[in-house]
Amino acid sequence: MFNEFDALVIGAGAGGMSTAARLAKEDYRVLVVESLDRVGGRASTRGVDGFLLNTGGFAIERGGMVDQTRSDIGLPLEMFVPSIETVLLWGEKQIKLSSGITSIARNTVPRLLRVLTKLVPYFRPKPGEMVTEWLNRFTKNRNIHQLIDNVNCSFFAATNHELHADVFLHYISVGSSFKKIGFIPGGTIEVWKPMGEFVKKKGGEVWLNSKVVGFSYNGDGSINGAVINQGENEVKIRCKLVVSNAGPLATAKIAGANNLPAGYYDDVVAKTDPAAIITIHFASQKDICPFPGLAVGALTPQLSYCANFSAPELGRCPPGWNLYIAACSPRPSTRGDFDLDKEVELLKADIRTIFKGFDEHAEILDVDVTAGLEWPAQRAITGYDLPIETPIKNLWNVGDGVKPWGDAGTASCAETGRLAVNQILEKYPLSSLRAEVSSL
Ligand SMILES: Cc1cc2nc3c(=O)[nH]c(=O)nc-3n(C[C@H](O)[C@H](O)[C@H](O)COP(=O)(O)OP(=O)(O)OC[C@H]3O[C@@H](n4cnc5c(N)ncnc54)[C@H](O)[C@@H]3O)c2cc1C
Repeated sequence: MFNEFDALVIGAGAGGMSTAARLAKEDYRVLVVESLDRVGGRASTRGVDGFLLNTGGFAIERGGMVDQTRSDIGLPLEMFVPSIETVLLWGEKQIKLSSGITSIARNTVPRLLRVLTKLVPYFRPKPGEMVTEWLNRFTKNRNIHQLIDNVNCSFFAATNHELHADVFLHYISVGSSFKKIGFIPGGTIEVWKPMGEFVKKKGGEVWLNSKVVGFSYNGDGSINGAVINQGENEVKIRCKLVVSNAGPLATAKIAGANNLPAGYYDDVVAKTDPAAIITIHFASQKDICPFPGLAVGALTPQLSYCANFSAPELGRCPPGWNLYIAACSPRPSTRGDFDLDKEVELLKADIRTIFKGFDEHAEILDVDVTAGLEWPAQRAITGYDLPIETPIKNLWNVGDGVKPWGDAGTASCAETGRLAVNQILEKYPLSSLRAEVSSL
């Protein structure tokens, strides 16, 4: 006896949960299958020694597509907005990026750049030109290069040597570039949990600790079911549509190279180029953090950003404690190994310059490494993402690895969910999907 669903969503990350919630809203019966014991993927929360640590994403864009998705399903997101959202740490100075004159400059300079690059060909990046080369045409100032490198590592987990200049310019001048952010009380997992409850309320299911390992096919090559491992057990389900949040490479592996057109699998392998982030989570009873929200390092050679999660409204630390993170992208962030011990020591050296009293007062709770094919910071550096469509007509990819060109973060993953659902509604409206199963 098979379990039957309209749609299978593989993975409960930002892209998968956004897709599942939107499909459920349209009354599709959805099964979400997640291999971990929690929802949220690389934007989730885990408990360590009484603290709630993020698994990756923690700053949610106010008004961005994650926020929008929650509103669209009738469950508006409540965020905690720090008294100063974002600062740029310029040596000992703190420059507020979310208010006052700098905020105006933050909005106008990118717009001016956009006009300038349109009107004056010299300013335009050449095809394939990396940020370092493009910047070198105007300045060799080390501080400017360091500042932009840290911004790029914060947004894209990629250094100036690894990111195309046109992507950088697009994101800061057209994209939202995290201008308004909030943190989630209880941790980022609380963004996705209500989406899972919503899927269940609409007749769907969410299976944790379950891994999709294969598909079954109709004669025309479309998918009609999946094989799911739950510990020792193997479960088979039937479904009419599949949306995968596992990343294009993992999805192609589940599909099997033989069920894909010649060359597709190799192409996905060639285009999968994971980037890395190292995060140190630390806590102290004494407040050693000079800023209340998110901070980007301007001149720190290693640290790209750090954040303060101590506000009692966030409920992330035991009483009397403060919780912080500091992060960097290792060198190289992609295409190669890095020396983890060395990278962590360099990051700690930068932390000491910002968090005075780090050695005396702070305890390191964990060091997270998001890297490699299985758990990367980014599956593909922005600018290299694949399309959401696959060669299998009822299979889509969502999330990181298929983000819209020049976009990044949870909002871009949620946007892929919105785009996939729009295609599904157009190609497979529920009435015809349920009536004409065999024609898929
Ligand atoms: C350190 C770090 C900091 C970040 N900070 C921010 C930030 O502040 N703000 C922001 O917006 N973004 C941030 N990001 C980026 C953001 O977290 C990611 O872009 C986003 O979470 C990726 O979501 P996704 O849709 O690709 O899904 P993923 O997070 O990749 O989730 C996919 C899920 O699929 C599951 N899965 C995989 N294969 C299978 C299978 N076969 N069967 C079942 N389940 C499977 C996985 O277990 C996983 O849970 C950060 C990322 C990192 C690493």
